[in-house]
Amino acid sequence: MAEQAVERLTDIGPPHYEKFLPPIVATNYGKWRYHEVLKPGVMVHVGESGDKLWTVRAGGPRLMSIHTIRWIADLTDKYCGGHMRFTSRNNIEFLLTEEEKIDPLIAELKENGFPVGGIRNSISSIVHTQGWVHCHSAATDASGIVKAVMDDLIEYFVEMKLPGKLRIALACCLNMCGAVHCSDIAILGIHRRPPKVDHERLPKICEIPTVVASCPTAAIKPVMVGDKRSVEVNEDACMYCANCYTVCPAMRLNDPLNDGVSIWVGGKVSNARTEPKFSKLAIDYLPNNPPRWPEVVDAVRNIVEVWAKHAKRYERMGEFIDRIGWPKFFDLTGIEFTKYHIDDFRLAGTTYKRSTHMSSF
Ligand code: SF4
Ligand code: SF4
Repeated sequence: MAEQAVERLTDIGPPHYEKFLPPIVATNYGKWRYHEVLKPGVMVHVGESGDKLWTVRAGGPRLMSIHTIRWIADLTDKYCGGHMRFTSRNNIEFLLTEEEKIDPLIAELKENGFPVGGIRNSISSIVHTQGWVHCHSAATDASGIVKAVMDDLIEYFVEMKLPGKLRIALACCLNMCGAVHCSDIAILGIHRRPPKVDHERLPKICEIPTVVASCPTAAIKPVMVGDKRSVEVNEDACMYCANCYTVCPAMRLNDPLNDGVSIWVGGKVSNARTEPKFSKLAIDYLPNNPPRWPEVVDAVRNIVEVWAKHAKRYERMGEFIDRIGWPKFFDLTGIEFTKYHIDDFRLAGTTYKRSTHMSSF
């Protein structure tokens, strides 16, 4: 006789998301009729049953103290029956079933310095990586730049006056834990020098085969330095990715004088109208200038304003550039075109189909 299957208990992987659905979402799952944006940062979903779910979106710091998280949880209990979520770009979304609680919630958020907005034709919160706070291979900071940029662009978060959605991302090195490859504007930390090998420490703390294998461009080879086993880097083949530094702290890559920031434009995840796009290089280097990174802030504002002035309604950054052409984009933004803008990377075919979007070309 077949044995009864026993449910396997495991703590591997996340719990099933259905466990966390607010009751109104569980009841109306797959049965929403429409949604509309009522005012900046506030939208309502209406179900076939007539049920209504209001969402209030607030911007917040991505790196949060436990006190901030507890405060958000208390607000959620007070106004939302305990239901909120963080979006993939780190917006805080409060989910309400009582319309009369929307304005008191917004008032309390604003009183505590949390702006409300980021829905529809606006900039939503900037998704970012760890930066100098946490990651060893960062070429720039993350939360520091994002704070400076959003302080400057806050008008575009709390109002809906842009032509379309604008998604900004920051990654502090080209391993890109952030959505830098597919955002309208991307701020990307870059190293510009190959790793410096510490031949004294390397044999003591690193496994040489692992170090050699860590390099995506095969730029590392084992060598003897005197009587010590070590490695050598072919600097022409190095793309400053920091993978070797990740597995071997004796291959330091961070360089306060040469590390900095590049700006990329035109990526998107959405397949509305046109297929998803990768971001492309706009500015090859800006210096690290903490604590407020004025060069980066000015560069991002300039690109936002050129797009806001010239884009058609709902046109995303990449669609706008495709329509006007790259030469015109460089003209309008005043960004200098350099040899670094020439895409000569040989290893990814231009013919790869990168989405399931149907198009005639
Ligand atoms: Fe670390 Fe790079 Fe990720 Fe930043 S983007 S958190 S430096 S791996
Ligand atoms: Fe290779 Fe990247 Fe290290 Fe350069 S930084 S040697 S490309 S692993």
